[in-house]
Amino acid sequence: MRFSKLFVPTSKEAPSDAVLPSHRILLRGGFILQVGSGIYNFLPLGKIVLEKIRRVVKEELDEVGCQEVQLGFVTPSELWKESGRLVKYGKELLRIKDRKDNDFVLSPTAEEMMVDLVRNRVKSYKQLPLHLYQINLKFRDEARPRFGLLRGREFLMEDGYSFHESYEDLDREFKLMEKTYSKIFSRLGLDFRVVEADSGAIGGSGSKEFMVLADNGEDDILLCQECRYAANIEVAKREKRVSPYDEEPEMISGDFYTPGTKTIDSLAEFFGIEPYYLIKAVAKRALYEDGQSRVVVYFLRGDDQLEETKALNAIDALELVDISEEELEALGVTPGFIGPEVKNVEIVIDIDLKDSDNLICGANRVDYHTVGYSLKDKFDDKFYDIAEVKETDRCPKCGGRMRVSKGIEVGHIFKLGDRYSKPMEANFLDQNGKLKPFVMGTYGIGVSRLVAVILEQSHDEKGAIWTKESAPFMLDIIVSNTKNEDELNFANNLYDKLSALKKEVIIDDRKERFGFKMKDFELIGFPYGVIVGKGLKEGKVELVDRKTLEKSSVSTEEIFEKLKELI
Ligand code: ATP
Ligand code: MG
Repeated sequence: MRFSKLFVPTSKEAPSDAVLPSHRILLRGGFILQVGSGIYNFLPLGKIVLEKIRRVVKEELDEVGCQEVQLGFVTPSELWKESGRLVKYGKELLRIKDRKDNDFVLSPTAEEMMVDLVRNRVKSYKQLPLHLYQINLKFRDEARPRFGLLRGREFLMEDGYSFHESYEDLDREFKLMEKTYSKIFSRLGLDFRVVEADSGAIGGSGSKEFMVLADNGEDDILLCQECRYAANIEVAKREKRVSPYDEEPEMISGDFYTPGTKTIDSLAEFFGIEPYYLIKAVAKRALYEDGQSRVVVYFLRGDDQLEETKALNAIDALELVDISEEELEALGVTPGFIGPEVKNVEIVIDIDLKDSDNLICGANRVDYHTVGYSLKDKFDDKFYDIAEVKETDRCPKCGGRMRVSKGIEVGHIFKLGDRYSKPMEANFLDQNGKLKPFVMGTYGIGVSRLVAVILEQSHDEKGAIWTKESAPFMLDIIVSNTKNEDELNFANNLYDKLSALKKEVIIDDRKERFGFKMKDFELIGFPYGVIVGKGLKEGKVELVDRKTLEKSSVSTEEIFEKLKELI
């Protein structure tokens, strides 16, 4: 490719809402253009990178027997009704009508379409297992599209769906996909972890996420420093906590007058005791799938925080919203003094409090707390894991120290079981001639998100530093002065010879100043550059490594062989 012919509108500045390095570089480097909130056009350079990533994904999936298909982007709502997700998916699902008033959705994921494609076509266990995937547009009307390609509304995703006759066979495929996805992310040069994850709106049991470690990640993950345990904070577990004291503090049981102590801090100070022994109450209004809502009070140790995803999963609700003191009072509840014996509301207690005693909690009357409270043999069915795990907690697997890291989700694999095949009546005949729903798995990679993720891990203040499998071109041949015929001829010759070998080379033959071209080389982030300039008279060119920005002088006789190896 010749730079003089390439459409690459680079710019000095990025818009002020582009705060992340990847977002700034992709806009400034002329890779993408914003069309609307969370919607982007890919320009030639961006498209090359996207295609390279897509190719890596495809190669590895095809290698392990997955088959590529392509489903319609516009999906009949009818299918979403069948699975029960038309309501459950909420506002991220964009619903549209055609001229005949038929209802459709823009596919945010394709379980329904894929089940529909397979049902009544795959009829016997003899045709199983089957793994179909596509690399196709998705649309999710995200509440907060941001960070460029990291959280778009329209984005490119690889989504795979596997069909099995048994859970054992699903387990086998799940492990295979964990390995295959890991290989894909390794090839792309990413530093990632496979973590335990929540199953979200897709439903099902058993799921893992692939998290790229990056300071700008939106997810919090807990990593054990001593074993391989790693989990998204939404599902992270911990070892049962131990008291901060050597001996249990002595408490005189009874209700105590504690005027105005509505917070954990003031209560801890009032009694001179660690918050570990205090019970915190968090009241919320829970919204359910059927449009109903209920008031729920969550109880945790005073120094723990409520983890929202866990809190939702405990009661199978769609959303939690804040509730005012007035609303609570109207129910006869006393904000600031709520304890587990509260009436008229649903309660959930953190699992770490199970069988604990010697506690202090609200007495459910204004200005009173109960001291020496015990949860032994009480509320048996109300205990759930609802607390946010923190760095001071211990690993649930080995008891080791843990650390919290930021991560960006690049892939997700789920065991679905019959969550879709059963309601959608997608059945096959098993070995005994019995009709059974398919056992399914589902798998996804954020292909367009990866373009940005690679940059989040690999950039400097000057611009992009692409990895081998993602670079738009491996080498930029920079002609220092295009008016100098010798320089131009030498560069053209080198370019032709490397291109003949199918090497990914671009030649910067633009009639621009050398400094301008160097800046573009650094901004766009080709892994290597060759500067053909004044040194040519002495038989020398300069080789630049984009990562280190180190320059080395190479003789004109050796440069071709050297580059042949390098790129
Ligand atoms: P997130 O928690 O980031 O919203 P998700 O759990 O909704 O992700 P999945 O439904 O598992 O995502 O989709 C599979 C993959 O698609 C994700 O791992 C991610 O890489 C990518 N992805 C999801 N949402 C977006 C988005 N809005 N923009 C770009 N890529 C996305
Ligand atoms: Mg999402």
